[in-house]
Amino acid sequence: MIRFDQVTKRYPSGHEALQSLSFELAAGEMAFITGHSGAGKSTLLKLIGLIERPTRGHVTVNGHNLHGMRARGIPQHRRGIGMVFQDHRLLMDRSVYDNVALPLIIAGLPRDEVGKRVRASLDKVGLLDRERAAPVTLSTGEQQRVGIARAIVAKPAVLIADEPTGNLDPQLSAEIMQLFADFQQVGTTVLIASHDLPLVKRMGKRVLVLDHGRLLDDWRPGDP
Ligand code: ADP
Ligand code: ADP
Repeated sequence: MIRFDQVTKRYPSGHEALQSLSFELAAGEMAFITGHSGAGKSTLLKLIGLIERPTRGHVTVNGHNLHGMRARGIPQHRRGIGMVFQDHRLLMDRSVYDNVALPLIIAGLPRDEVGKRVRASLDKVGLLDRERAAPVTLSTGEQQRVGIARAIVAKPAVLIADEPTGNLDPQLSAEIMQLFADFQQVGTTVLIASHDLPLVKRMGKRVLVLDHGRLLDDWRPGDP
């Protein structure tokens, strides 16, 4: 589902954020990317979302080699990928419903279909009763759940998250991670960058460890 083949990313500053990185994530697999600040975790996720492009090497997502993808193909590519950010990036002057509906409205879905999907999404994150609320009135954990509902509303095959629990206490962090595991249960491929190693280990999923842009370790469930 996601393949990195000898991927190097050098920023215009000259800094090599990823160095000849190769790994593969199967469809329906869930993995964490961990490593120190600056290890290249965000960069890796940005390459998957085509927010950045590699300097060398190839990234393949859902059977498409992103190297050949032109700018006009990017919106469709991103519709197949749900993205969750640490700061959730909600529109604070819109309702919870409107925030979650946004990707579908942009995609031009009919209004009744939008309503059905938004409510199904909010139901999955346990916020069906808050659809009319303004995000500011929600707790930080609830706001992150809205961000997750928005990421999954278009039923993406791939869900990626950049430090989704960075602002949450341990209890809420564990709940949010369990929510991601639930999406894996229904077939979504999930890749999460997190520096919370104790939490990552407790999840018992595959762990890719980055160090200065290189793959230092690739731990799989069952490994010692
Ligand atoms: P992480 O998510 O693990 O903290 P990042 O992928 O954000 O790591 O960053 C990896 C390295 O690339 C860091 O040294 C960072 O400073 C650098 N970097 C990230 N984005 C840019 C950019 N747009 N321009 C130049 N350097 C960048
Ligand atoms: P940073 O890591 O510096 O906070 P990001 O790389 O996450 O920034 O985002 C860079 C830009 O790309 C932002 O303006 C963000 O809104 C946009 N962006 C991120 N993900 C998507 C997406 N799936 N579709 C469209 N735009 C996106």
